[in-house]
Order: sequence, then structure tokens, then C-alpha cells
Amino acid sequence: MRAAVFVEQDKPLSIEEVTPNAVGPREALVRVTASGVCHSDLSVINGGLPFPPPCILGHEGTGIVEEVGDQVTTLKPGDRVVAAFVPACGSCYYCVNGQSNLCDVGATSFTATHATRADGTPLGAMTGLGTFAEAMVVDEAGLVKVETDLPDEQLALIGCGVTTGVGAALNTAQIKPGSSVAVIGCGGVGQAVIQGARIAGASRIFAIDPVELKRKTAEQLGATDLIDPAQGDPVSQVQALTGGRGADYAFEVIGLPETILQAYNTARRGGTVTVVGAARMDATVTMSAFQLFYEEKKLLGCIYGSAQVRRDFPRFIALTETGRLDLGSMVSRRISLDEVNDAFRAMQAGEVIRSVVV
Ligand SMILES: [Zn+2]
Ligand SMILES: [Zn+2]
Repeated sequence: MRAAVFVEQDKPLSIEEVTPNAVGPREALVRVTASGVCHSDLSVINGGLPFPPPCILGHEGTGIVEEVGDQVTTLKPGDRVVAAFVPACGSCYYCVNGQSNLCDVGATSFTATHATRADGTPLGAMTGLGTFAEAMVVDEAGLVKVETDLPDEQLALIGCGVTTGVGAALNTAQIKPGSSVAVIGCGGVGQAVIQGARIAGASRIFAIDPVELKRKTAEQLGATDLIDPAQGDPVSQVQALTGGRGADYAFEVIGLPETILQAYNTARRGGTVTVVGAARMDATVTMSAFQLFYEEKKLLGCIYGSAQVRRDFPRFIALTETGRLDLGSMVSRRISLDEVNDAFRAMQAGEVIRSVVV
């Protein structure tokens, strides 16, 4: 099968023929039907998120089960699945405490090998998936069976961006109806936060992004106020629109120390600040200790939208099927696996919300 392999930092992915591993007792072979190109894939390429090469990138995907190991109980050939980039084993401390987004199996699956290159070198797979491939061998814990007629390119986005963003709004921050929400960074995940805020009944949604296409899309998806940070400090712009207070909820969806502080300052006293962006592992945030206690803001981390994938994937699919979640508008380009390197260029140039390999 063909796959897009990360071989060296800051180099284009190598599109090459690889051989998937034989299916283990608790694994399934999935034919990948669509895979979104997410900013975290780029972070692996540029060294921000350390995944050792060589490995198959891609962690936002959907497909059809072709073969299962003899101990697999929840899947059979022909099932449609969405891959979870953090598996949910169902039995570790976190899974039994309703926090499967922190499942212990995640860390171990990151280091396993999943395929081999033509020269025999073993290949890892990003987050145990490797969706930039025609097929992938995945632990059963990382696959969620779904029943829907949604198109593949929309379903793929539920694997990462949609669940992360909508989950941040509904699960992590738990936005209350009527409140005001500021979203800093309106890429795929930011657009999903905006939609989550709309679904939660926010009265004002401030979309903050320097790229016009992203502000326009945000408006279409529910933002009420569009803020271009190039036209002046976004914190004061949000304050001016909220009686000088700031927003009830602020989301950082970029992963930079400077925008994390900006999100903190955009929230009102007593407000909730949610950090969704995946920062570089070596980045640090320095902030006022006085502010931390005096302003009584709630500062929340957020991985995978605090989502319980077996509960939330079907929820987000149902919201899409009934027209409350618009995933079609988030798919900017449908591309082939050979065009994946150009998708990273388009992402950095601000030309797309999401490119999807189909
Ligand atoms: Zn992602
Ligand atoms: Zn678990």
C-alpha cells in the first residue's frame, strides 16, 4: 500500500510503497477512505511535536474495517469506523473515570511499529494511526464503529479537529447559554469551537484571526463579531465590545505562549480560559501570579476536547446529520495522497480551513 512517510525533520513527506504489519489479535486492518490534514501533522514535521522518524503521519481519519484479529470483539469486516487519535481502552483508571481522552493506552501505542518500508525498516505511525495511507493496522481501542451516511471527508474531521473543537466548547468549558465567547485562531479546530459555542447557545462569538478567509468562514459558522488582530490589540477590541469586561469564555486555538496570554487577558474576571492549541513541547508561558488569584479566572487545559470518543463521535455525527454542525463548510479541498505536501503549504499560507485526502 502507499503511505506518506515522515523521514526527516523539515523535509517533505515521502510518498512510498510500504507493507502494513500482520493484524495482531487485538488489532484491525482498516482501509482508509478519508484523512484530514491537521496542524499537528505539520508540528511533527517541524519538530514541535516529537515523533521519531520514520513514521507514517496522519491522525484524523475514517475508513472501513477489512480484517480483525481473533480477540477483537467490537468490530467486524465491513464496519465503518472513525479513528480516535487517543485510544479508549475502556478499562484503565482514566477510562473508568470518564476521562478516556487521557487513556493510558495512548502513550504505549505511540511507540509501536505499524508497517515496514521497502528496505525492511520498521515504521511507526502517528498516534498509533498513520491515516496518510491507503490502509492502517490499529488497536481496537483506537477505532469507533459508526453508523451514518455522512460523506467520508466530513466523517474524517470528527477524528481530530471537530471533536477537539466542539468538545472544548461543550465538554471542557461547558459554555452556558447566553454567554460571550472569544476564539483566538480560526483554523479547523477554531471553527469547530465556534460551532460548539453556537450549539451551546452563546449570544456573542468573537472570531479572532488575521486571515480573511478564516474570519469569513467563522461568520458563516456562527461568529457574531469578526476581529482582525492586525487592526489593533484583540484584547482591547473584545473588551470594547463587552462593556470593558472581556468575554465570559476565551479559547486559545493556536498553541503559542503569546496567544495563550492573549486568551487569558481576553476573558473577563471570573471567566473561563481554555487552552486548546497544541504548543511546542519546549514552549513556556510566563504570567502574572497576582492576576492568577485576583482575577479568579479558570484556566483549563484541553486535550481532544475532553471527549469520550465512544459517546461523543455518535453525538457529533447526529449533530451533523440534523444540520446543527456544518462540517461541509470546513472542507476546503479534497486532495490525493500525492498532494499532501502541498496541503501543508496551503495550510501555512492560510488558503484552507481543512484539506482532506480522499
Ligand atoms: Zn489533529
Ligand atoms: Zn483507557
